[in-house]
Amino acid sequence: MTLTAAPETTSAYDLGSARALACRECRHEIPLAAEFACPRCFGPLEVAYEFPKVTRASIEAGPKSIWRYKDLLPVPSTVEQHANTEPGLTRLIEADNLARALGVRKIWIKDDTGNPTHSFKDRVVAVALAAARELGFSVLCCPSTGNLANAVAAAAARAGWDSVVLIPSSLEQAKIVTTAVYGGTLLAVDGNYDDVNRLATELAAEHEDWAFVNVNVRPYYAEGSKTLGYEVAEQLGWRLPQQVVVPVASGSQLTKIDKGFTELGTLGLVEPTPYTVFGAQATGCSPVARAFEAGHDVIQPQKPDTIARSLAIGNPADGPYVLDSVRRTGGSVGHVSDEEVVDGIRLLARTEGVFAETAGGVTIATTRKLLEAGALDPDAETVLMITGDGLKTLDAVSGEVGPTATVPSTSAAVREALANLG
Ligand SMILES: *Cc1c(COP(=O)(O)O)cnc(C)c1O
Ligand SMILES: [Zn+2]
Repeated sequence: MTLTAAPETTSAYDLGSARALACRECRHEIPLAAEFACPRCFGPLEVAYEFPKVTRASIEAGPKSIWRYKDLLPVPSTVEQHANTEPGLTRLIEADNLARALGVRKIWIKDDTGNPTHSFKDRVVAVALAAARELGFSVLCCPSTGNLANAVAAAAARAGWDSVVLIPSSLEQAKIVTTAVYGGTLLAVDGNYDDVNRLATELAAEHEDWAFVNVNVRPYYAEGSKTLGYEVAEQLGWRLPQQVVVPVASGSQLTKIDKGFTELGTLGLVEPTPYTVFGAQATGCSPVARAFEAGHDVIQPQKPDTIARSLAIGNPADGPYVLDSVRRTGGSVGHVSDEEVVDGIRLLARTEGVFAETAGGVTIATTRKLLEAGALDPDAETVLMITGDGLKTLDAVSGEVGPTATVPSTSAAVREALANLG
């Protein structure tokens, strides 16, 4: 019997089973800290663990939120007592109507619109906040394309922390309002997301108590996305799906769902059955899909121009690792036009009664395209990630849908209108 080896790196912090930060390029390790770049090669750092014994039963006995997986996350072991946000354990919907419409044997929708601020970003922010508190920060910050802004402002409000959120001034009105309402400092910057991100990196260096969730505490933040993979497997009855389609902005979510699936297999919580990971982008911001198509390993940055603004990151930090994931598992990265995104939103709403934001439209439309191209197997069980709520991107569909008819308030007029529908 193998016993857990003593940690090689001791830490001043209680971040649960997190043991060190490891470079994704050269594997050099440093002690747990608010660092994101390797001191040797400047490669991105990720969390390395010494996992305790975890069983299906111990997870199932946990809270009905992402904190049921706390032993697999870089958070203090007492996190539930201090956690102020409870995202996760969102619905996994058996989408038989959508499956029929697309000609696929079995589709499941992971509906992350059900989180506290209606997108998957509540998961990553909750983990970042828990780690940031332990690392000694006191202000929660981010550069954002919208959903992250909502999640950071709300989580900070609930924790009693100040927040500083930077957004491109061109953002959807709904995402500005749904951030500003929580209080905190909201800076609308004249520039695109990549400009805002650069600004955040500069500010993080100037303010030592500011935790930019996706910049200086990014290694911890990113781990929050693993919970999407854990939940899908648990909700399927502790097994891995055969195919999964994930929208790609920075690419972090896709790589961490992959990591989550792999960890469950390694820990013996699921049978390590093969699975294929697919990425989805909007054509107007498709740097990862283009690199995939061209067979390149490096990502050529692109100036975003798409209605899918939550995915509009022209220079995606995790792009190369997305390529690794999809190539290793036999998947691919597809992209769809804005028109197809709207069709995707409407198809999901019509078939399953789920109203997704533009990122969800990207996932649905790309799934259809990958099926037509023969990249996705229609006979394999497929999970689609629906990561944000359509009420935040009403503009995308408001010109496309409306009343079937507007009628005077008489039953005769209604009868006539119904007859005219044919
Ligand atoms: C941020 C976001 C994504 C993608 O996240 P990355 O980890 O940056 O790739 C997907 N969907 C929605 C709705 C988002 O807000
Ligand atoms: Zn390195």
